[in-house]
Amino acid sequence: MKYLAEMTFAEVQGLGEDTVVILPIGATEAHGPHLPLQTDVTIARAMARAGAQALEESGFKDVVVAPPFHWTSAGFAAGFAGTLSLSPSTVTAILVDAVLSLHRAGFADIILANAHLDPAHTASLHEGVRIAREQHGVVVTFPDITRKPWALRLTAEFKSGACHAGQFETSIVMAERPDLVRESLRAALDPNPASLSQAIREGKKTFEEAGGPAAYFGFPAGASAAEGRETIATLGAIVADALVAARTPGKGE
Ligand SMILES: [Zn+2]
Repeated sequence: MKYLAEMTFAEVQGLGEDTVVILPIGATEAHGPHLPLQTDVTIARAMARAGAQALEESGFKDVVVAPPFHWTSAGFAAGFAGTLSLSPSTVTAILVDAVLSLHRAGFADIILANAHLDPAHTASLHEGVRIAREQHGVVVTFPDITRKPWALRLTAEFKSGACHAGQFETSIVMAERPDLVRESLRAALDPNPASLSQAIREGKKTFEEAGGPAAYFGFPAGASAAEGRETIATLGAIVADALVAARTPGKGE
């Protein structure tokens, strides 16, 4: 597994024709009082790395991880200091340009490792994937973890919809970047069982409206690095399985 940005152009030229590129997609967005704004970038990078490792273990020779997206649409968190939010149409345009650029660079397969679940954001990614395919003939694999079958493989808290800066995400940051977790704040946080996914279905537009006045949902105090490592492995397996399915005629998304 290699990070594209750490390679030289000559090393990229030397990659095989079958090279897979994974594009991690996060956000810069409020994640409770205990996690950094870059939480979704940290998760997306871990998902991409684990996906690359799983693909290499199943026989893919060269797997490259592209530089992550830090900027996207984050309307639910827009009321919290430090959150950066682009309009969904901008995100779609950037995604289309990014995947066309990766395609021109010669990568055989492009797959998204997305960790930011704001509905406007995921919709903008689906739209970008559609435009890349229909207008440019570039196929991009996008396992959307908010949808079946992928969501079913994740933790109970994730499936409950109380899944922003709660046990699920906090565990991953504890595994990846424990130095960035405000541990004394985390351990003292009350559970917030409000379901974001249900609030989204009801038409709510912000974390405040959805019942998350401190920008977290779920149970941060229940998080652990061990759970984070397990979830990262599952996210990596989702990336690998989605790519294999996309390559199998009749089984792609
Ligand atoms: Zn998040």
